[in-house]
Amino acid sequence: DTRGAELLRLEAVTVRFGGIVALDGVSFSVRRGQICALIGPNGAGKSTLFNCLSRLYACNSGAIWLEGQAVTHVPRHRMAAMGIGRTFQNLAMFASMTVRENVLIGCHTRHHAGFARSALRLPGAKRREAEAQAKAQQLLDWLELTPHADKLVGDLPFGTQKRVELARALATEPKLLLLDEPACGLNHEELDKLSELIRSIRDRMGITVLLVEHHMGLVMGLSDHVVALNFGKKIAEGTPAEVRAHPEVIRAYLGA
Ligand code: ADP
Ligand code: MG
Repeated sequence: DTRGAELLRLEAVTVRFGGIVALDGVSFSVRRGQICALIGPNGAGKSTLFNCLSRLYACNSGAIWLEGQAVTHVPRHRMAAMGIGRTFQNLAMFASMTVRENVLIGCHTRHHAGFARSALRLPGAKRREAEAQAKAQQLLDWLELTPHADKLVGDLPFGTQKRVELARALATEPKLLLLDEPACGLNHEELDKLSELIRSIRDRMGITVLLVEHHMGLVMGLSDHVVALNFGKKIAEGTPAEVRAHPEVIRAYLGA
């Protein structure tokens, strides 16, 4: 059992945009099986950190390790295969494709060979396609998306689109799932469901979760570990209770 071992490590990660230092020497680790939350005021660098992890942005300096392997310079298209899946703060899906098609893309993202095989009609293509269909259907059922499976994503309400994005990320079978503000725009009832969902992603699917979230109630109730950023720097790290009581965190949120 490798639960509790280090899955992700950031070492002095720095990202600059011109004169802006969006991330300034940030270091922390995420252990396997954890639900880890990244908090901080607007502009703290949370999305930039996610963009670094999914290789949309390059680090100016520092290093990122996944399961002890340096992934700092791994090209973007390899990251899903390496086991990092994500959702975006502003949804990123194919709005003019159906729910099922979007989830199937996730299924094929993990297994590039599968995609090429089915295009080239190589042996094994039929079996792989059937497997992908079955996996997509399982996720659609689990996320209560089956009634919407053949609708266009762009026609669905925001909360439902968010579940589609989650289904697509899960279809890549990540070791580490990055969720950027999953609670944003959800109502009270949807929030409770989301908490339960994230917990079962960890408990039943065995996926480690790193989430950016503004909703403190959700963060405090759900996370094992919290990292707080402000102006690109890590200002606190620990249990939810420790971080909430940290003077630097209180100061950051009061804007003093
Ligand atoms: P958060 O997600 O915590 O609200 P961001 O990571 O989005 O913060 O932004 C951190 C800082 O980096 C902000 O000052 C933001 O304006 C800047 N920033 C983020 N992305 C870019 C970009 N692509 N180009 C220029 N500046 C950026
Ligand atoms: Mg953000």
